[in-house]
Amino acid sequence: MTEKVLIAGMGPAGLVAGLMLARAGIPVALFEAQEDLPTDLRASTFHPPTLDMLARLGLADTLVAQGLVAPSYQWRDRATGDAATFDMGCLAGETGFPFRLQCEQWKLTRAAAAALQAEPLAELHFGWAASGVTQDDAGVTLTLTAPDGTTRTETGAFLIGADGASSAIRQALGIKFEGFTYPEQWVVASTPVDFAAKLPGLSPVTYTADSEEWFVLLQTRDLWRVLIPVAENADAKLILSDDWIEAKLQGIARHDGGYPITHRTIYRVHQRVADRYRVGRAAIAGDAAHINNPLGGMGMNGGIHDAVNLAEKLIAIFRDGADMDSLLDHYSTQRRAIAEEYVQTHTHQNKQVIEEKDPARRAAHLARMKHVAATPSELRAYVRKGAMMDAVDKSMGVMP
Ligand SMILES: Cc1cc2nc3c(=O)[nH]c(=O)nc-3n(C[C@H](O)[C@H](O)[C@H](O)COP(=O)(O)OP(=O)(O)OC[C@H]3O[C@@H](n4cnc5c(N)ncnc54)[C@H](O)[C@@H]3O)c2cc1C
Repeated sequence: MTEKVLIAGMGPAGLVAGLMLARAGIPVALFEAQEDLPTDLRASTFHPPTLDMLARLGLADTLVAQGLVAPSYQWRDRATGDAATFDMGCLAGETGFPFRLQCEQWKLTRAAAAALQAEPLAELHFGWAASGVTQDDAGVTLTLTAPDGTTRTETGAFLIGADGASSAIRQALGIKFEGFTYPEQWVVASTPVDFAAKLPGLSPVTYTADSEEWFVLLQTRDLWRVLIPVAENADAKLILSDDWIEAKLQGIARHDGGYPITHRTIYRVHQRVADRYRVGRAAIAGDAAHINNPLGGMGMNGGIHDAVNLAEKLIAIFRDGADMDSLLDHYSTQRRAIAEEYVQTHTHQNKQVIEEKDPARRAAHLARMKHVAATPSELRAYVRKGAMMDAVDKSMGVMP
């Protein structure tokens, strides 16, 4: 049996796992359904422990060079303009990156794929969608389908399903993906207009609570992204129109001459976790295993943490002859617990806070946050949680 690891999906999770394995001397074959790496605007926040992991692969500096360092983030109240600002400098000494890096995820996938192309043990295949899996004690057989319907099979010792939220691998393995979908739709619009020049004291990452219409402002190197909720049954054509977006952005901050809009999208948001992350020699990682709302920027980061955890375990199995069953079960238990107890909880709480209708409860939350921001020991504990450092401390480590 070949020692190769097959990986379905070249998003952040698949590429990071592939790069770690190839660099450890393990052959990998990656299969991406699209003809090229997707470049749509998705996650834009890298948390400190993720950057520490990417630094070990030589990818962090290139992202920092292409991104925007956000030294703080903020909770604000739309009605009063009052804010609590969390200075991430309190993490200095615990991470090489005591900040959030605001950088589009496609910059990571581009850099990771380029690094993989340079690895003699890595094969990258575009235009092949994973469509079926069989396995026995010796290995895994993956069926792949091209856009013209042509199929082929590949065999390997293990399979990583990193093929995103609608994962064909998860479905082929019979893994359930339970949870719920939020009723509202979420709209993201990007503009080069500088909101920091309009809203005094604004942090590059700001969650603004409101009883009627909360919003999130996220700065990247060249743009500001605005995230706003809209009604479940709102007409997509209308809410993606210039006029509708213009009115929303003018409501956030007045801008003479109109807002140029460089990108707009609308999507549904879910909270779901797979009921197990491993079946035999196949394991799932990233959005294939868990999805959550973007309030806190934990989706892509959690997927990268899965990839690193799983790759470390496969390396221990190949290199040290570690027991496959106990390590892969450990991966499933460790990472599933974090998705369920930490990421789902944290992101859902963020949603409840940002959409709080009662002004008294909103004010109480902000007062508590201001106290936390001004109290060094509480600030550090709070920022560690938001930066997923506690999640990583609890959920990494190779051996059970
Ligand atoms: C519109 C949108 C906005 C988002 N915004 C944020 C945000 O602001 N903050 C945040 O933290 N997260 C955000 N996310 C989530 C974030 O993008 C994901 O958590 C992250 O991309 C997960 O990485 P991944 O590698 O697991 O999956 P993906 O990035 O989805 O990568 C999966 C890859 O597999 C490929 N693929 C799919 N099916 C197959 C198949 N059958 N065979 C082979 N390849 C296949 C896909 O083309 C894709 O390249 C957003 C997601 C979306 C959709």
